[in-house]
Amino acid sequence: MSELILINPATGTQSAIIAADDAASVADKAERARGGQKRWARVALAGRCAAIERFRAFVVRDLEALARTLTIDTGKPIRQARNELNGLLGRIDFFLASVQRATHTETVLDEGGMREEIEHVPLGVIGNISAWNYPWFVGGNVFIPALLTGNAVLYKPSEYATMTGLAIAGLLREAGIPDDVFITLVGDGSVGAALLEQRIDGLFFTGSYATGARIARSIGPRMMKLQLELGGKDPTYVRADAPVAVAAESLADGAMYNTGQSCCSVERIYVHESIYDAFVDAFVATVRDFKVGDPLAEDTYIGAITRTPQLDVLDAQVEDAKRKGARLLMGGRRLPAPGNWYEPTVFADVDHSMELMREESFGPIIGIQKVRDDAEAVRLMNDTRYGLTAGVFTRDEAVARQLLSEVNAGSVYWNCCDRVSPRLPWSGHGDSGVGITLSSYGIQTFCRPKAWHLRNP
Ligand code: NAD
Repeated sequence: MSELILINPATGTQSAIIAADDAASVADKAERARGGQKRWARVALAGRCAAIERFRAFVVRDLEALARTLTIDTGKPIRQARNELNGLLGRIDFFLASVQRATHTETVLDEGGMREEIEHVPLGVIGNISAWNYPWFVGGNVFIPALLTGNAVLYKPSEYATMTGLAIAGLLREAGIPDDVFITLVGDGSVGAALLEQRIDGLFFTGSYATGARIARSIGPRMMKLQLELGGKDPTYVRADAPVAVAAESLADGAMYNTGQSCCSVERIYVHESIYDAFVDAFVATVRDFKVGDPLAEDTYIGAITRTPQLDVLDAQVEDAKRKGARLLMGGRRLPAPGNWYEPTVFADVDHSMELMREESFGPIIGIQKVRDDAEAVRLMNDTRYGLTAGVFTRDEAVARQLLSEVNAGSVYWNCCDRVSPRLPWSGHGDSGVGITLSSYGIQTFCRPKAWHLRNP
């Protein structure tokens, strides 16, 4: 075992030193999970659901303390930490209500003594390597349906959300999930890499494109299920007929919520030239009202940048945009240490020569670009290697549907943004990844469909 030093990103101070896994302990845990999974798969669905219902009740019971832990882990404003936990409850409710329907054995033919059935068999032991930005959401999208469908989970929380990961493990254990069925692996990327070396039946990853591509190279030849939920550069187009004030308020929130550290943060805004100036003014006015500061304070809206190296990415995007002629309307600098802080930053008059419009920023910065017409907006929205979400603000639903049907994205939004629903599939195009979580697809994905051909003699 080695050690992991945890730093509170809002204060720069050490919050804990904890024991971390190493290659030997990861191998040992993976072996234990194999035995645990076989027993867990034999527990009736009702018994597995009852355990997750108890887990839900414990999250409700401890919600305030869990929100505080999340804030200390990540620098997320406390109200947004509570929102995440409350959102998780809705996702659990969806999974509990849907798992039976999504995974019951289907008879697809019953004719002349021949029956065909589809059975949904658990994958087995799965790896769940998670990001820090919404650890309850991105972890829970995997481990809850995976456990409900009879899998064992080797859960590797991000090293930037370790205390939250341990809290999740503690509540699942208290809820009666055996400790060889849900097993936490503590540590940084090296522990994730050690997990890839084990005999597992599926790997579900949420994180950056760079790590996802490395994992894909490693898992590829092993013929196992691989899901990669990666980054985005999510665009929104504000059409000439859009309600300007409503769009500005919604998009300011979509760009800056969670300090801009959401996979589906609004990262590019295109505005029709006829309303461009009015939109930019309204957008900046909204962002100026966002309070930056202590994430534990109730009125804070913008908290700390969770990972220190991201400050360099933001600086580089700001310098590049300035050098190439973008108009800086507010922000553009780090805020003084201790801790990782960045001013909410808004650029107008950007273009696609700038990194700010091409690479994920993952911080409270945004570029706004003027467009002449719908065709130019669609062309620019699709000028990206990513494809997680995209949106259009307009009063005309038919036009929105037409434009969004031309955009490559897993989720599309009409007059809204930065929104995830447990009832809808969550997936990406291009470098935003492969695979699906949430919805009934995001339950079935933890099973292998087994084909039964049954002839009655
Ligand atoms: P990251 O890639 O740095 O780390 C993600 C996880 O991978 C961590 O647990 C890390 O320890 C582990 N890891 C690192 N190197 C590894 C290796 N070589 N082998 C195995 N595991 C390894 O990403 P992050 O900074 O935690 O998360 C931010 C990124 O996640 C952003 O790009 C964001 O857009 C993306 N994200 C996507 C979604 C989505 O649903 N598509 C959701 C949340 C976050």
